[in-house]
Amino acid sequence: MDNDSLTQRDLRVLWHPCTQMRDHETIPLIPIRRGRGAWLEDFDGKRYLDAISSWWVNLFGHANPRINAAITDQLQNLEHVILAGFTHEPVVQLSERLVQIAPAGLSRCFYADSGSAAVEIALKMSFHYWRNLGDKKRTRFIHLANSYHGETLGALAVGDVALYKETYQPLLLEAITVKSPDCYYRAPGESWADYSARAFAEMETALARHAGEVCAVIVEPLVQCAGSMRMYDPVYLKRLRQACDKHGVHLIADEIAVGFGRSGTMFACEQAGIAPDFLCLGKGLTGGYLPLSACMTTDEVYAAFYAEYTARKAFLHSHSYTGNPLACRAALATLDIFRDDDVINRNRKLAAHMGHAAASLSDHPHVAEVRQTGMILAIEMVRDKKTRAPYPWQERRGLAVYRHGLDRGVLLRPLGDVIYFMPPYVITQEEIDLLATVAREGIDRAGA
Ligand SMILES: *Cc1c(COP(=O)(O)O)cnc(C)c1O
Repeated sequence: MDNDSLTQRDLRVLWHPCTQMRDHETIPLIPIRRGRGAWLEDFDGKRYLDAISSWWVNLFGHANPRINAAITDQLQNLEHVILAGFTHEPVVQLSERLVQIAPAGLSRCFYADSGSAAVEIALKMSFHYWRNLGDKKRTRFIHLANSYHGETLGALAVGDVALYKETYQPLLLEAITVKSPDCYYRAPGESWADYSARAFAEMETALARHAGEVCAVIVEPLVQCAGSMRMYDPVYLKRLRQACDKHGVHLIADEIAVGFGRSGTMFACEQAGIAPDFLCLGKGLTGGYLPLSACMTTDEVYAAFYAEYTARKAFLHSHSYTGNPLACRAALATLDIFRDDDVINRNRKLAAHMGHAAASLSDHPHVAEVRQTGMILAIEMVRDKKTRAPYPWQERRGLAVYRHGLDRGVLLRPLGDVIYFMPPYVITQEEIDLLATVAREGIDRAGA
């Protein structure tokens, strides 16, 4: 088997995600034979440093021996069982561990199989909570401009990335969109905290005006990842928690991308010292091994559904693979690594190194900003540094960086013209230096 023959077979029968398939007439598809640590290897033996953790899911490298062992062990006993009416040890243990490490008060775990599904669950649960309390006026959600919460219709409706949403608008429920605290737009000299605090005014107004018809506010804490890795200050979350309490509205924290150490802390909400009413988890939950997501919530929400069957208050939502034992074992092994290897502390050094390695890029004539939150670093490529005018999107400059990265054996997959590093936590300092070098070369070429 080689790259070409597998590619040809692929292109006859597959339809790839988030892809204009015609691009593959000119851009090669890359068949991967195996992965080890932070590296992927194709069928021609070429290696690629996985700088984006295979779409933000991988935490401890490909083919991680400890996670492999856990899944192999589980495979000998139970691959899957229905979770309605039945249970199993991995799902009980995982729930206990998640309740232990999540922000205080999140005491219940409901499982699904993708981030989007976890978001759907949070939206439905919040809506249903108010119904169960007899409040039928609440049908709406408040969300932030430039947010992303997944691709299914409910999740898409509370997102705001036009590229993914626009076409489907006629199918979507109408969310209330509020200005993003995105600090890219702060005034010269203004601090992240000041800008994010200032941006909160619009949220306060929206809550005051709509509180009676709103179920919940949904946000991505600290980093709007799919929205070009735009970042904001924890002060916004602090104010948002207070305002949601004041107006009697739920807060949904979508930590599908930023959870599990990405933001520098285990959960991004910790940096604001807050706990949401719903916490959505996914992506890194299984270390990037298997599809599993969770929606965690409070005793108070749980209690609103707990009643005689005939009261018809139960949450009758399900997915076939809910709480899959293999995925739960992968998640448990992942949490063991966090605990045993003191990962959050060790990541501080890696994050600092990433910052140093990319720092000089802020002087590049085609870079408007280099920004970082924990293990996420983003480089905003623009046509004009002074005015921050972007390149026309049709020019696909980010794609040129992607192609240069592949030539050099680095998997960077820019979001538009924003190049970012979101590597597995097993990356080395030397490998981070390679990322920075290749990113600079790519930007030089793309901007020329
Ligand atoms: C990726 C992502 C989702 C959707 O998760 P899927 O597993 O792709 O459905 C939702 N919210 C955020 C913040 C994400 O980054």
